[in-house]
Order: sequence, then C-alpha cells, then structure tokens
Amino acid sequence: MRISFYGVRGSVPSPGPATAHFGGNTSCVLLELADGTVLIFDAGTGLRPLGQHLSEIAKPLHLLLTHSHWDHIQGLPFFAPIYQPDREIHICRSLPEGDAAFAGVLEQMNGHNHPLEHGTLPAAVGYMDDPLSFFATFGFGFSRKLLNHPGGGYAYRIDEGDAVFAYVTDNELDPPQVPATTFGEWVDFCGGADVLVHDAQYVEADMPMKHGWGHSLVSQVRELAHEAGVGCLVIYHHDPDRTDLEVAKILDESREWFERRGSRTQVVCAWEGLVIDVRRGAGQRTRLDISGLRPSGLVLPEGTF
Ligand SMILES: [Zn+2]
Ligand SMILES: [Zn+2]
Repeated sequence: MRISFYGVRGSVPSPGPATAHFGGNTSCVLLELADGTVLIFDAGTGLRPLGQHLSEIAKPLHLLLTHSHWDHIQGLPFFAPIYQPDREIHICRSLPEGDAAFAGVLEQMNGHNHPLEHGTLPAAVGYMDDPLSFFATFGFGFSRKLLNHPGGGYAYRIDEGDAVFAYVTDNELDPPQVPATTFGEWVDFCGGADVLVHDAQYVEADMPMKHGWGHSLVSQVRELAHEAGVGCLVIYHHDPDRTDLEVAKILDESREWFERRGSRTQVVCAWEGLVIDVRRGAGQRTRLDISGLRPSGLVLPEGTF
C-alpha cells in the first residue's frame, strides 16, 4: 500500500510563510492499495490538489469521511473528478447512526454555500448506505471505531494482507466526558499498524482551555503508538497556529522520546507531499519507504528531518 498526504492541517486552512514547509491545506490522505483500489480519507482543502492528480486516473474513487466538520469536507466542490461524466465516486459519510441530517459534504453544494447544486454534477456521486457491506466484497479488511470528538465520527483501519493502515482524526484520547472509545480500545484498534495517522493538534501549553475540544496531545499519541506497537506514527492535523519551526520541534522531541523508550516505532510529522510505501515480504518486518518532495526555501534547524 502507498499513503500520500495532500492536506495535513487541522481546523482551518492556514497558508502563509510560517506554514509553507509542512503545508496549510486541511485533512486529506490518499491510500492506494496493491489491487488498485483508491481510498481517500477526508475531503479537506487538500482534496483539490489530489483531484488534479486523480483526474488522470480512470478508476472508481472511495471517499471515507471521518466526520463533517468544515476542515474535512470543504475541498469537495473543488475536486476535479466530480466534474467528470464517466466517474464513480462512493462516499462513506460515517456519521453516527441518526445524525444523517447533518451530513454536509454534498449538501454544502446547495446554491447558497456554493454556486452549484450537487444534483447537477456530471459524475455519479453518492453515499454508501452501509460501508461495512459495501467493502465486504473487496480484497481488504475494513473496520472503524467511534471517535471521541464533538459531534462524533469514525476512525478507520484498513488491513491489506499483512499491511495495516489506521487513520484516526479528530480524536481526543483523554476527553473530560466518558469516552466513546477508551484508550485501551484504541490500543487494540491500532495494534500492529504499519502506519498510524493520528491527530496530535495540541501540546500541554494548550491545556486546560482546549480540554474537551476533541483533539489529542502529542504526548498522548506517542504513548498510544508505543503501546500499540505501531511501525510508523504520523503526527497529523497540525494546529493552524503551529509554525513550521514549532512542528519541527515536536518532531525532534518525539524522535528523542521513542529513542529513550528503545522503541522501534518511527515518527514523522505529516507534510504535504509525504509518501509512505508499506512493503512486506514473507516473514519479514514491514519496510517503510518515506519520500516526497517538500517545498524548498525554508531553513530549518540542522538534523530536523
Ligand atoms: Zn479536523
Ligand atoms: Zn473535527
């Protein structure tokens, strides 16, 4: 499987010189499976550049939304494949049962919030009725877990053979209220993942004000990745006010933390353009090839990457 990052920021797009290195587009990750299946996680503003890439690839597309906050749906009206007549797009809106009235990814195209109405789109775009049944005939395992986040939502886990990808955003590992999913349940859900993408929007200095806002501390996410025996933790959903230098500092601290633990978990802070290939030979440990061009022109401290 190959994982490519197109939007890594949380809450609101944050372009500008202070965020150009890691990127200012909101949540969007592409997962390409070995059998050619294309899965897209979230439709933040990173979906627009992803659409430019996918418009050349004639395959059905599967969009898996964690929830319907703006930073996870706002890219859809600017996703080039929805304007292609021969395109199939299947959307997993993944709201908790009974919340369908708030599904907004298509409904935002209503002539008011956006000039076009989604019913006029050239592509065949529609919601899956039951994602578990929909994916049952595919050649991979599909599972999901309730997020600890205001309004709810789902995390996803994809098992393709021995390769495992887990996508968990926006999620508060230690919420003030009774959690929908406990820390121990997250350890099981993420157990043995080759790549775990997890929201780590906050640091201790953001507390206590933001406790209960639905996002995790970097320190909590490191504990989860370590306990779950994850191959590579991808720190994700960066705060819009976090500058490139501050994100780079989080990366340095996190590398030191895993080294001190003697952990084999690798850690990266997601950037737009990051690509991770997960390869597994018979009886071998997963090999992760991490690549992807980063924007040039920014000087970061020596040894940051
Ligand atoms: Zn978000
Ligand atoms: Zn959210």
